[in-house]
Amino acid sequence: MVFAELSVRLNDIGYKNWLKAGYCLVKLRDGLQGFVKNEMRDFHQTLSRKNPQLRKGIQCRQGCKPRGNQFYDLCEQCKTWKEEILKHHTSRDACVHWGNCRPWLWSTEYWEMAKAYMPRGQLDIPGPEKCDAAALLNLINFCDRFNFINRQKVREVIKSRNELMHSCEMRVTPQWIVQYERKLEELIQELKHVPEVTSAGQEMRELLSVDWVVHIPGQDYVDGDESQFVDPEVISTVEAEILQESLRELYLKAQEDSSANAQQLQELQKLRGFIEANKDLKEQFHNQLLQVDNLYLPADLLTNQESKRYKQEEEHDKEEGYVPQKKKKTLV
Ligand SMILES: [Zn+2]
Repeated sequence: MVFAELSVRLNDIGYKNWLKAGYCLVKLRDGLQGFVKNEMRDFHQTLSRKNPQLRKGIQCRQGCKPRGNQFYDLCEQCKTWKEEILKHHTSRDACVHWGNCRPWLWSTEYWEMAKAYMPRGQLDIPGPEKCDAAALLNLINFCDRFNFINRQKVREVIKSRNELMHSCEMRVTPQWIVQYERKLEELIQELKHVPEVTSAGQEMRELLSVDWVVHIPGQDYVDGDESQFVDPEVISTVEAEILQESLRELYLKAQEDSSANAQQLQELQKLRGFIEANKDLKEQFHNQLLQVDNLYLPADLLTNQESKRYKQEEEHDKEEGYVPQKKKKTLV
């Protein structure tokens, strides 16, 4: 039955809390998008106007590109943009993910500049509407345009977000949720002049305050409080989004480190075990799991049984016309 498995998953309080916490990040992201967009657009205009070299409005003619995370040869215009970006970075020691950017567009696309302040994996993200909460929060943390916000409050939420997304168990305790809600509240207070953030805050409070029950047609809920019923479609979409983000992060880590460490392998195994144990999720994430497996798990690390299944699935994909190598960079 549709959503029956989701309903069962929500019987696990730890998992339900994990989902609720993830849903708060989705709300926070929605609330931040317009604000970040306006700020970065203004910031880009200010830099373009104030710097004498940038004011000339010259565009890059040689298509300057980073190789990995390094630049080897930059034209005068891109060099100036790079210097400006670094000048406004809040951490002198931080690793700047130049690989996120298309420098030849720095003069004309404010978002290409903004992406230099974000975690890796942003190259194909065209604007704030496609960003996750982590990307926007890191931008606020690392770009001094946002100096009017208490950075510590931002970092606390980033820290909680990382705990959440790297939680092997995909469960959090009620105590953790209490701390998390406090940190979110403190950040929302910092941005109380932004109406979208304020309303996102209200929605977060509401979603954290109710229990979640998925109503399955045909089942009786004698003691059910109707106010606790949630739209399973919405919860299912949010669940997929959060799991997708976890998978994507594991994928990016694996791309960065050719030899995945024990903790990363453990995270992946837990996540894949969880997804495989749920038929609805297994079907939904079939291709993404194969894709991550291709990166993480060399054949000699797999048990015989896993190896056999893996090969069978590869054969199945070939028959279906799926080519993992080509999809690697776009799916998760
Ligand atoms: Zn250039």
